[in-house]
Amino acid sequence: MSFLDRILFYVYPGACAFCGALMPHSKTGVYICSECMEKVRFCARRSCCSICGAPLEFAAAEEGRRGTICPECFSLRRSGARRSFDRIIAACAYDENSSGGIIKYKRGLSLGSASTFAGIIAANISGRLPDVKFDFVAAVPPRRARIREIGFDQCDLLARKTAKALDVPYVKGAFKRAREGKKQTELSGDERRENLAGAFETRLGADRLKGKTILVIDDVKTTGSTMEECARALKEKGAAYVCGAAIAATGREIS
Ligand SMILES: [Zn+2]
Ligand SMILES: [Zn+2]
Repeated sequence: MSFLDRILFYVYPGACAFCGALMPHSKTGVYICSECMEKVRFCARRSCCSICGAPLEFAAAEEGRRGTICPECFSLRRSGARRSFDRIIAACAYDENSSGGIIKYKRGLSLGSASTFAGIIAANISGRLPDVKFDFVAAVPPRRARIREIGFDQCDLLARKTAKALDVPYVKGAFKRAREGKKQTELSGDERRENLAGAFETRLGADRLKGKTILVIDDVKTTGSTMEECARALKEKGAAYVCGAAIAATGREIS
């Protein structure tokens, strides 16, 4: 570290999780610069689907009985289809303003952003579900190939920090992949659901799940099929309520 770098680090020990701009010390451990504060579409300030967390600007919102829901959730509900997760909450919309920082984190290039992302997920959870007492937090399982590629499990770190911010226990390795599916990004929404069907199992026994309220953390929520599979595995063994949470939500596939 050069002398100048050392001075810079002393004055600006943090970097904005979205754009990487250097920032002065933050007591909360959350680093978001004022520009990104304005530009990033945080769900707390906008309307998002009250079931799946999708930002509603992507499509015209339909008025449902339990508040505003997206067209997909509206038609699923009308068809009587049941989903295993109770709801999904995302901290922001996945778009050109938020994706750079999130992709960097997913690739293991900005581990320091975990505290910021966990902080905004935790704030959303306690803001939207003030009366829900979670028994524990779990993380969606990584693809084994991906861990080999980047050397760390970004959802495990995110979930551990979110659990700490919410003061709820974290259960590591709650899920395993029953089989290794194809890379999701190469598949369409329907293929994606099919690829994932039955793909996850939980390592936890019914004794640890029966009647429990569980928060499952993913980095980005796309079609919701990953969360659906995790929730299905937990509910099969008796979990009572499963909420999914992610840094960002999008309606399309990402890498
Ligand atoms: Zn920024
Ligand atoms: Zn929805």
